[in-house]
Amino acid sequence: MIYLDHAATTPLDPAAAEAMAPWLDGRPANPSAVHAAGRAARAAVEAAREQVAGALGVAPLDVLFTSGGTEADNAAVLGLARAAREAGRGAHVVTTAIEHHAVLDAARWLAEREGFALTVVPPEPDGVVDAERVLAAVRHDTVLASVMVANNELGTLQPIGAIGAGLAERGVPLHVDAVQAFGRAELALERWGVAAAALSAHKFGGPTGAGVLVLRRDVACLPTSLGGGQERGLRSGTLHTAGIVGCGAAAALAAQRMATDVGRLAARRDRLAVRLLAIDGVTRNGHATARLPHNLHVAVDGVDGEALLLALDAAGVAVSTGSACQSGAAGPSHVLAAVGAPLDGVGHVRLTVGRTTTTGEVDAAATAFEGAVARLRAQGGGFW
Ligand code: PLP
Repeated sequence: MIYLDHAATTPLDPAAAEAMAPWLDGRPANPSAVHAAGRAARAAVEAAREQVAGALGVAPLDVLFTSGGTEADNAAVLGLARAAREAGRGAHVVTTAIEHHAVLDAARWLAEREGFALTVVPPEPDGVVDAERVLAAVRHDTVLASVMVANNELGTLQPIGAIGAGLAERGVPLHVDAVQAFGRAELALERWGVAAAALSAHKFGGPTGAGVLVLRRDVACLPTSLGGGQERGLRSGTLHTAGIVGCGAAAALAAQRMATDVGRLAARRDRLAVRLLAIDGVTRNGHATARLPHNLHVAVDGVDGEALLLALDAAGVAVSTGSACQSGAAGPSHVLAAVGAPLDGVGHVRLTVGRTTTTGEVDAAATAFEGAVARLRAQGGGFW
């Protein structure tokens, strides 16, 4: 299989698997326990916390482990907004129309169920959100802005530096979803003045079911899970030692390798883009340069996106489409809808390369893509 779906999940890096192995051998591993086995697990978790903190340039005490990106995003959006309202600072939240549902649905929950006001800022047609529009949405009672660093579908990079600076002047805390960006784009959490950030280990060579919430200690946040009081009382539940150790190892590697990985990923992606964009009726979605180095997102005239995905899958090439269902929920992608992409009679496909993708694989995938588009068009496009 030629795997071009690294934005969905990355293969587990062998080094992360090796770091995890001792914690999957059946030994008891509860980092909250006081006995020797518990202390060993605690030491492993704290070492992973330092690895993540070092990779991000933040203090280890600001790093909280979660079950993934979704939990980290939920905890930040719900926890920060509720704490600020409880303190009487207001009840207005700003986010963007291209956020992952982990942010967007949490923000909508606050608006629809808890009486918050919500402003959802639309992107420009190129998939980049204008910083001025975000800042213009801020009101006297705004308690939180949540803007992703890089979009998971289009790969577009958002102007977080400008947004962070403007929000700091206005005294509004910023949460960033950095799930797609970590290891592939600069993350200057401190310089950007970020209050909270979400990461997911399986997007950077770590295991699924492990993630990180970076949360500055001086920012008030209410917990979204209650119980044993782990992770500064914000994320109760026995820690998943193996997953956390894998997350730490993968984070350290991703940070070390980023400088070389970015050029390599962009070279593979650009090689693929040259071939695909040369096909008649195939155009690029999203900004040409302000995008993650591994992401190519294309619109294909006269072809159904799902049919193209399935044809490529049958040819041994794994990609994803934003034009149809996500986790089985039917309906067009909210991101493509927000940028005004044509959805009728046009298929949209995301191809994301990884650090192990070879030029041979890129070339073979491009050939399969050309063949699949030609065959589907000859059959009327595969619409149904
Ligand atoms: N945020 C973004 C931008 C993502 O791409 C994803 C995963 O697709 C998530 C959040 C959710 O992360 P997880 O799968 O770890 O819950």
